[in-house]
Amino acid sequence: MSEDNSPSRQFNFCAGPAALPLPVLEQAQRDLLALPGTGASVLEISHRSPAFKAILHDAECRLRRLLAVPDGYTVLFLQGGSRLQFSMVPMNLLGGQEGDAQYVLTGSWGVKACEQARLAGAVRVVWDGAATGYDRLPDDLSWDGSDGIAYRHVTSNETIQGVQFRSDPEAKDLVLVCDASSDFLSRPIDVERYGLIYACAQKNAGPAGVTIVIIRDQLLERSADSLPGYLSYREHAQAGSLYNTPCTFGIYMVGLVAQWLEDEIGGLVAMDHLNQAKAKMLYDVLDSSDGFYQGHAQPDYRSLMNVTFRLPSSELDDRFVESAEAEGLCALRGHRSVGGIRASIYNAVPESGVASLAGFMRDFRTRNA
Ligand SMILES: *Cc1c(COP(=O)(O)O)cnc(C)c1O
Repeated sequence: MSEDNSPSRQFNFCAGPAALPLPVLEQAQRDLLALPGTGASVLEISHRSPAFKAILHDAECRLRRLLAVPDGYTVLFLQGGSRLQFSMVPMNLLGGQEGDAQYVLTGSWGVKACEQARLAGAVRVVWDGAATGYDRLPDDLSWDGSDGIAYRHVTSNETIQGVQFRSDPEAKDLVLVCDASSDFLSRPIDVERYGLIYACAQKNAGPAGVTIVIIRDQLLERSADSLPGYLSYREHAQAGSLYNTPCTFGIYMVGLVAQWLEDEIGGLVAMDHLNQAKAKMLYDVLDSSDGFYQGHAQPDYRSLMNVTFRLPSSELDDRFVESAEAEGLCALRGHRSVGGIRASIYNAVPESGVASLAGFMRDFRTRNA
């Protein structure tokens, strides 16, 4: 397949909805008017048709293979984005439990998840990186007193600040819940460590509109009968993700992305190696810039997905973004809440795009230092 640098497409560093693999877009384009054997677009067929059920089944099987999801876990395709998961997690897992929910706040998304959980029940913040601007992670997440804890919530990659857990956090006996929105499918994870993993698709796994939830089957018993149907994991599990009309096109795209990961990349270990090499290119530029580029994250906690940094002034930040755009390197402005620069280098951003950005950064520094 061709590299993602055809003249009409720029290198896209958007944090989300983010770049999709070119072969995936090409296949979707080829099949858009009529799915082979169906005579209609995937956008036009019933979610209960055999053709769509096959697509749903294929997407689920591929995710299970890629992530080595063990038996005893259910994979769900929901809507409402990760924001709805901020509420569904406490509504399902906290209601009726004796203990409280523990939140580890490592950045903006964890803070938002925690705010929503407070609306549903008793919540305790067990670590908060606010004092240092969320530039680091807790080194030791294994506290005492795991009795009477409904679950502990972590964010594997904080998309806005650019800090990422290097490996799966320690779970001990507690139910670990992970917002994996922005590093899902970027590397292998040990699913067994988690009670529940959720990820909106639009960073690494597909288009906006579909959200993937992987939940330990035992936890489905916690969903109270009094919950509104759509908000109950148990309802969705019993209906096999067809409780209502799901995001059919999104699920189809997740299947294509998973196929690309399996067939063209060679799985998540290979993807992880590529992602490490990509991130190193940019962090090397930061580290050899004599402080011209100031990384936000402390080195031990740097994200492989979102590289966040600043230049010596906000005027230079602006000039950087504009000049980069002129060279076909787009969507590099940091999140509106923190400013600076953010290069999101998810799975679908090719090595050649990251190399172009690294080269641009070196040149820009020479011209402006
Ligand atoms: C993007 C993102 C979200 C929000 O996802 P929505 O689909 O917009 O609700 C939540 N958590 C993390 C870590 C994210 O990167």
